[in-house]
Amino acid sequence: MPSIPDETIHPQLRIHSYGHYLRRRFGCRVSKVNVDAGFTCPNRDGSKGTGGCIYCNNVSFSPRETQPVIPIEEQMAAGMAYHRRRLGSQKFIIYFQKYTNTYGSVEHLSGLYRRALDHPDVLGISVGTRPDALSDEALELLTEIARTHYVCLELGLQSMDDDILTRINRGHTLEDFVSAVERAAGRNIDICAHLIYGFPGETATEFLKTADLLASLAIDSVKLHQLHAVEGTGLAEMHRHGGFTPLTLPEYVAVAADFLERLPARITVQRLYGSAPLAIRVAPQWGLKNNQMWFAIVNELTRRGTWQGCRVG
Ligand code: SF4
Repeated sequence: MPSIPDETIHPQLRIHSYGHYLRRRFGCRVSKVNVDAGFTCPNRDGSKGTGGCIYCNNVSFSPRETQPVIPIEEQMAAGMAYHRRRLGSQKFIIYFQKYTNTYGSVEHLSGLYRRALDHPDVLGISVGTRPDALSDEALELLTEIARTHYVCLELGLQSMDDDILTRINRGHTLEDFVSAVERAAGRNIDICAHLIYGFPGETATEFLKTADLLASLAIDSVKLHQLHAVEGTGLAEMHRHGGFTPLTLPEYVAVAADFLERLPARITVQRLYGSAPLAIRVAPQWGLKNNQMWFAIVNELTRRGTWQGCRVG
């Protein structure tokens, strides 16, 4: 097999990591800082659906410092201090993560995004949302911001199988995702796709087709994690009643490596695993820390002698 191809693939990590990309693009250490801006979600409040996605408990993916009652400037200051201390980060991207961060009037969105951008060490924003909650006005706002700042639009797809999307109560289709990507393309906005592997009834073969889908679209970045059940979700109930069997660690690591081999090198990798606070974690219980999960997958690529994109045709 030939050697690792070009400067996009980190020689030790064997993937095009988002951190590596940000460092090359901005010339310094850049961290994402999460804020909770107090949004809700149309898949919870009844406008698209109720109950939310069967795996969703937003507590599981938000640090404690991010509470909507705290002004975002204070949340940003706490997050930036943490990343400066821990990683020596010099610049920051403010990540509007929790719930659906384009779900509001354009005036409200503009006010929040501009408050984040006011800080001199903030390079831009990352906005997590649903593909069916991206209005033309919100997209125009992000396009305007992208003229002067970095903008990443994080779109939840989770699965490209519409039957699975129905079963997990996502409330949107693959077509909604493709349409949102096409509308956001060509606007100097990085587009990130969120994926989950391990839904009941999903096969590895079907899941791996998602790499081909991303390759065919204007996707710049990906976040992948294993399906895990946390307290307070329908999935946790399914697990208790035998309706959800989590992947084993070796199964997930093998498929994540297979996926990366099929993912074009131009697409950066932001995340390869999911974690939840111990207090609400139901299954799986792999007992690995976040960086151990990351390196379990990197080590698998190393063991195979492969890298991201090596199987792209
Ligand atoms: S779209 Fe996101 S915030 Fe809304 S219910 Fe699903 S996972 Fe939760």
